[in-house]
Amino acid sequence: MNTPRGLVVLGATGSVGRSTLDVAARHPERFRVVALTAHHDVQGLAALCAQHDAAHAVIANAECFDDLALALREHGSGATPHAGPQALRDIVSLDGTHIVMAAIVGAAGLEPTLRAVELGHHVALANKESMVIAGDLFEKARQASGARLVPVDSEHNALFQSLPVDFAERGLAASGVEKLILTASGGPFRETPSAELAAVTPEQACAHPNWDMGRKISVDSATLMNKGLEVIEAHGLFGAPADMIDVVVHPQSIVHSLVAYRDGSVLAQLGMPDMRTPIAHALAWPERIEAGVARLDLATAGRLDFHAPDLDRFPCLRLAFDALRAGGKAPAVLNAANEIAVQAFLDAEIGFTRIPVIIESTLEATPAGAVASIDDVLAADQAARALARETIRKMSEHA
Ligand code: NAD
Ligand code: MG
Repeated sequence: MNTPRGLVVLGATGSVGRSTLDVAARHPERFRVVALTAHHDVQGLAALCAQHDAAHAVIANAECFDDLALALREHGSGATPHAGPQALRDIVSLDGTHIVMAAIVGAAGLEPTLRAVELGHHVALANKESMVIAGDLFEKARQASGARLVPVDSEHNALFQSLPVDFAERGLAASGVEKLILTASGGPFRETPSAELAAVTPEQACAHPNWDMGRKISVDSATLMNKGLEVIEAHGLFGAPADMIDVVVHPQSIVHSLVAYRDGSVLAQLGMPDMRTPIAHALAWPERIEAGVARLDLATAGRLDFHAPDLDRFPCLRLAFDALRAGGKAPAVLNAANEIAVQAFLDAEIGFTRIPVIIESTLEATPAGAVASIDDVLAADQAARALARETIRKMSEHA
């Protein structure tokens, strides 16, 4: 390794963003931080820029420019401040950028992430929502630019590691793949009876048994929508049709996912539930680097359990399979309605079991239609958000 490679972390102040910087800081000879971005946490961003000697800082909220410039000075960071959505889109085109960690949460990450792929960067993809809503656009952009797209989501990273290196060129069927099997922890309500689900609180939903994550993905894990989004993500990343994707609940989160082959072989990736493993793999691929992660000791782990998911208690997983089969706009609509419903749940506007109801009614109210461009995706996303908000408003009127 001669000179360090330039790293941009989109969503640096989040759970994945901070873990990424933890891994990168262990390898100063390999990674140099070009730019860090955040939504509106100016102080958090400025502190990270100072700590990691970033050259640029971007705050997505355009009104925070002056605050950011001041905070950077106060923290002793020499990073150049930028603000607003255009700055966020443009930051991946800075000279000297080689690796982009896409770790913004939600559809808000779509434009800079897709831009990074169009520019042919090495893209470590954590922002699953952008792959869910625009999988075809990502695949076209990847083919056109030759970008390297390595999944960070632990399940997809496990699948990537368990597939042959040339799966993208040969296709899954020609590689002898029969099934992609995603493991799911089952979330904090894995054993909660249906009758009790309506009353669960945001704090209970965000207390995940195995993983420490942002609030949105924690709620998604509790509804199993996280697994639903991951089914669609697996379709986008690996080109697998819905029938080739299975989900199995595995409460210990040690087997991160599996690939079943035609000859009866099943390959899996195992490890401790610590995102720094898939993050390190995605940043350094095809090499392997130290990630600061505790080693897996199977004798201490003791047992690994598996069982089928309960689609009656967790309808979000079924809705996601339906949206994948429907195709076109449906995954973008599912994702947008979910983002609105999850936020409403976190804001205590609706109960937990209303989340799938809002998503289903938004899907039903949306005419089918293809998405050919990023504008189509963004239009479907906006329309679905408005519909979901309207449903929530009506629900609170009747409450
Ligand atoms: P988080 O909420 O902890 O952090 C989100 C980051 O995105 C923050 O830096 C925030 O400032 C930024 N952000 C939020 N809204 C934004 C907006 N509108 N515009 C610009 N920036 C915005 O989330 P997280 O848990 O780190 O998850 C990030 C992504 O990674 C999600 O897509 C999630 O599904 C995925 N993921 C996370 C984990 C995990 O362990 N946390 C695991 C697998 C996949
Ligand atoms: Mg995951």
